[in-house]
Parts: sequence; C-alpha cells; structure tokens
Amino acid sequence: MHTYTDVSAATARALADLCLDRLSMHAPLDNSLTPDELGAIAGETVTESGIGHDEALRLWEHVFAPACLSVDHPRYLAFIPGAPSKASAAFDMLVGASNVYAGSWLEGSGAVYAENQALRWISDLVGFGEGAGGVFVQGGTIGNLSALVAARETARHNRVGSPPRRWAVLVTDETHSSVKHAVQVVMDAEVISVPGDERGRLTGTALRERLAELSESERDGIFAVVATAGSTNLGVVDDIAGVAAVAQEHGWWLHIDGAYGGAGLAAPSVRHLYAGIEHADSFIVDPHKWLFAPYDSCALIYRDPVLARAAHTQKAGYLDPVNVEGEWNPSDFSVQLTRRARGLPFWFSLAVHGTAAYTDAIEHTLTVARAGRDLIGAAEHVRLLAEPDLSVLIFERIGWSASDYVTWSAEVLNDGFAFVTPTKHDGKVCTRFAIVNPTTTVDDLRQILNSMRQAAR
Ligand SMILES: *Cc1c(COP(=O)(O)O)cnc(C)c1O
Repeated sequence: MHTYTDVSAATARALADLCLDRLSMHAPLDNSLTPDELGAIAGETVTESGIGHDEALRLWEHVFAPACLSVDHPRYLAFIPGAPSKASAAFDMLVGASNVYAGSWLEGSGAVYAENQALRWISDLVGFGEGAGGVFVQGGTIGNLSALVAARETARHNRVGSPPRRWAVLVTDETHSSVKHAVQVVMDAEVISVPGDERGRLTGTALRERLAELSESERDGIFAVVATAGSTNLGVVDDIAGVAAVAQEHGWWLHIDGAYGGAGLAAPSVRHLYAGIEHADSFIVDPHKWLFAPYDSCALIYRDPVLARAAHTQKAGYLDPVNVEGEWNPSDFSVQLTRRARGLPFWFSLAVHGTAAYTDAIEHTLTVARAGRDLIGAAEHVRLLAEPDLSVLIFERIGWSASDYVTWSAEVLNDGFAFVTPTKHDGKVCTRFAIVNPTTTVDDLRQILNSMRQAAR
C-alpha cells in the first residue's frame, strides 16, 4: 500500500485525469439516490481482499460521483452554493497529496505563513488592526463556536464575584442555526432573541428595547452579541454600528457571523452596509461560500488573538514542543487541534489572481442578483418578500401552496435543470435564489422563474 508501484502510478494518473476532466467540464447537476438504489448498483465495496484500483475508480466515476449534486452548477441556487475558482480547486489536490500538519507552526510553518497572508487580506477588509489574526477552520459552525467560547472565557476571566445564574448570548430569529446550536447545545448557555426590524435586521435600538425587558439576573449573564453580516435566508446585513455601540457600553463581546455575506466586504458597492464592523471582537467568513474556494474552509479572525489563545490552547506534556512562546499555532485559536491546511486552496487562488479579481467576481454576482430582483419585480406570478442587501433573493410564487413548491423543486432537479429549494419566511413557505457563482447568468434566473409560471401543481 505504501510503495509507489506501476499500478499505484497508473491509478494516480487516472485520478489526475479525472480531476482535470472535472475541472474543465460543465458538470451536470446530478441527483441523489436512495441507499437501496446505490446498494443495488454498487453492492458491497469494502471486502477483505479489496476490489482493486480499477473497480473502485469505476464506481466513483460512474456511480457515486453522479449521485452527488454539483454545487458549482450555475443553476444550483439552493442553500448557499459554492463555486471554487479553478486555481483553488486544483491546488486542493496538492494539499491532499502533501498532507501538511497545519495545527502548529513547528510542523507547518510554510502553510501557516501562506494562510496568514490570506487572513491578513480579510482582516484588512474588516478594518482590524495589525495585531489581528486567527485560523482557517472547517466551517462557519466551528468558527462561530470557537469565537463564542473565546468570548465566554474572556468574560469568565474578567468577572468579579460569583458566576451568573446563566451565561447568555443575544441573537435574532435570522441568526444562523449554528450559532444557536453552539450556544445552547454545545456551550449549555442561554440564547436571548431580539426581534429583527421589518427586514429581519438586528438593530441597536431593538437591542436596547429588548434589554429593558430583561430581568437583572438575565442581563447579568450576557457575555456576547452576534450580528450577522449577510443572513442566510434573506441576505441582509444587521445594523452593525448600532449593535457595536450597545456592545461597547455593556462590555459584551461582539461576534460577526459573515459566513456567507462577509465576502461582500470586498465589494465597494455594498461595503457601506458593514459600517462599524471594525469594532467587532471576532469575525468569520467561509471561503467555501462566496470566496470561491472548495470545501471546507472558514476564516476565523480575532481582533485580539491573545484572548482566543487563552481560551483554546491545549496543554499536555507531549505538546510542550509546539507550545513555544511567540510562534503562531493555529490550534491555539479554535476548538480543533489537528488541522488540514484548509486555507491553502483559497490562499493559492488569491495569490495567483490578486485581490482585484475577487472584487470583480463578487461585484459581478451582485449585479446578476440585482437584475434577478428586477426580473422578480417585473413578473406577475412572483413577488419579492424582502429587499436584499446582498445576493440572496427570497420570493413567493403567488398562488402556490407549500406542496406546489416541493413538487416543482423536485421536478426541476429531476430534469437536471436547476436546484432551488423551498424555504420559510414569516411562517410561510416560499423559495429563494442564493447567487454566489460568477457563472450564473441573468438568463439562468429568467429560465427558472419562467418554469414557475404553471399555476397549480
Ligand atoms: C453557512 C452559514 C453558517 C454555517 O457555516 P458552515 O460552513 O456550514 O458550518 C453560519 N452562519 C451563516 C450566516 C451561514 O450562512
């Protein structure tokens, strides 16, 4: 298994060819199969004597790969899609082949240096100072959790007197489920929900009003507030400056969840929406969403990384060689120790193309989204439900029931035409386009909207 023989060389070459094919093709949308369907086609693949290179490759190419949706398809507009640049996807192959340990400076200094350059670009977009820094983690979920753990450890450390009855974090209904899950399930703390404004935004005013309703002991446990820079369902940016002012008055940690929308910081046409973001204590953005990198990658950045290090550094006798003062150990800044160099594909593409190419690509998707909004506004069978700040369009098909959306969504997926799923807004089923792929065109959106004309299903 560990010798590079003629057979393993032939497999590696066949794999490299498959990778190049995938990079160069317009992949079909594909569709998922049931376990029974896959079982009938693939059968048992893990056997005592092995099925061999050729058969395993054949299974992947002809059975398993077509049973995975192509997230980078231009009409994949559900959830938040991904659209890796060719350079980032190609570099990911090398990251896999190299297997760098990127948890510590001692073992991965070159990779960590390169990743930190990419983090620096993002920190500068946020407006964090020289001292800011962090780590690339698996995704927004781990990024949000790690930031909030650092926030609570900081609050614990600074607190005089006995602990509060319940630690608590302020959020809104539009705050991503990963934040609420991190706080309630993982950290066993309280989520306090603040009503959003008419577009679902968290504002400083609403925050103050909600605060006035809380009991002394509820207020006492608050250690952080989470503002969303690009909500997943509506693509709306919270009133960050207003929230930051209240956080500052109360000494709370301000975390910004920009997993999807943080990329908009690089787009001059929307940069003003993020005013005040430089006051945040921590920030995340997922390069695997709107920054054109492959899965999985989240940039987690702290304004003062010393606080994160105090919360996250793992101590054990065998770790002493890596816990050297003054060295940048990525594992000090999140809940994970061992780490793939998951910022490298993003770094490579950013280094190759330059930051202006990123600005252009993000602005392009915004332009397409604005044209899509106009199409929805002009059509009679659909209605926009929230004015978007960024590149998510949420809308209803007038006259459709919940099951109409489900039927239509399955039909267009089965046809290999588009992947657009139902969602909910104000308790009502509707649908949305999330546009992060620079190859998505206005005509793609027009075609999908046209496919919704048929009245009842
Ligand atoms: C996607 C998303 C997350 C979760 O990120 P993962 O990378 O899926 O773990 C968190 N917050 C927001 C706003 C998101 O859009």
